[in-house]
Amino acid sequence: MRKSKALFAASKKVLPGGVDSPVRAFRAVGGDPVFMRSGAGAHLTDADGKSYVDYVLSWGPMILGHAHPAVVRAAERALRKGSSFGAPTEEELRLAEAVRAALPSMERLRFTSSGTEAVMSALRLARAYTGRELIVKFVGGYHGHADSLLVAAGSGATTLGRPDSAGVPAAWAKTTLCLPYNDIPAVREAFRRHGRKIAAVIVEPVAANMGVVAPEPPFLETLRELTKKSKTLLIFDEVITGFRFFYGGAQTGMRITPDLTTLGKIVGGGFPVGCYGGRREVMDLVAPQGPVYQAGTLSGNPVAMAAGLATLDVLRRERPYARMAEMTRVIVTELRGMGRFKGLPLQVNHVASMFTVFFTETHVRDMASAKTSDTKAYARFFHGLLERGVYFPPAQFEAAMLSSAHSTLDLERTLDAAARAIRRL
Ligand SMILES: *Cc1c(COP(=O)(O)O)cnc(C)c1O
Repeated sequence: MRKSKALFAASKKVLPGGVDSPVRAFRAVGGDPVFMRSGAGAHLTDADGKSYVDYVLSWGPMILGHAHPAVVRAAERALRKGSSFGAPTEEELRLAEAVRAALPSMERLRFTSSGTEAVMSALRLARAYTGRELIVKFVGGYHGHADSLLVAAGSGATTLGRPDSAGVPAAWAKTTLCLPYNDIPAVREAFRRHGRKIAAVIVEPVAANMGVVAPEPPFLETLRELTKKSKTLLIFDEVITGFRFFYGGAQTGMRITPDLTTLGKIVGGGFPVGCYGGRREVMDLVAPQGPVYQAGTLSGNPVAMAAGLATLDVLRRERPYARMAEMTRVIVTELRGMGRFKGLPLQVNHVASMFTVFFTETHVRDMASAKTSDTKAYARFFHGLLERGVYFPPAQFEAAMLSSAHSTLDLERTLDAAARAIRRL
């Protein structure tokens, strides 16, 4: 840890909090962050040379593991040809075609440089298309850091939101309604009161940013029905779920068609990317086709496009999904068993290859129940794993994930570390 500690101390003198994205700083679990030097497959090596089995996977993109040879090759080839032209390239056309083939609801789509940008643009588009201003989001849903989305729930479920970050104007936060996830009555009430004013409902079709929480039928079906009735656009934020469960999105498995979808993470193969798209008549409002302005110097960057295309190509050919889900099921079952053995109240939520360990007796189905978790116990569990070379998300309300590179040996190492970490709680 010596090198990491020195790097962090120096970083704090130049970067706020020593990091470029807050969760990396380990504030939620205490201690100093580990600086990573390299990654290969399911493993990371830190600045001091210690190795870890990685369940963070850069928070989602690295579904094939780190430095996958096919992705490295594609990115290298693209890089040699020049890394950015500010002009259209064949790579973005090919990736757009591949995304649309996998997610047919995205009849037209556009690439951006981050998920935040994709979501922000999708909201602007929804407001333009409907001529309305209100947005509905769900408590604990994360959609990037655009102003309209850094909003906390108001005093009642159907009252307008208030800023959840300094610097977000109150007037701006009031354009967002923040409802509890999986709460159908709250959604019905919101639509009764504000339906004709709501431009869009944005939702993670499987929540991953309050920890993993599955939608309980008919939650999403109800969103689809109500939005259709009141001519509101339904936006599935699939930045994390896109290509995570299937070759396609969470929507592929659910047979619900959103009006707009946002993607990011996996479709950039580990490079900065975002993407939004949907019904043609809506997307045709985007400039230069229509009046909704949105642009980006590095949008559709050829290196990111090549890495994304290579990632999708491997996923399409190898279909690692069933194996990843099965391995996750093993981890989850074992963790639950360890909790029972120790007499700990433990909830392990999982959907396919994503899971979250909550230290609570309460079934976790929304942010309120997620918050019943003993986050101090999570912090001790996290450090117990870290010590033994297993890198879990350094915060409770996040998803741990598997890649196609995780092996049964990695699984054994993980479970061994988890057993020791839990025994010591
Ligand atoms: C990560 C994430 C975002 C933001 O993407 P960035 O590339 O970090 O801006 C948006 N929505 C969801 C669901 C995410 O998981």
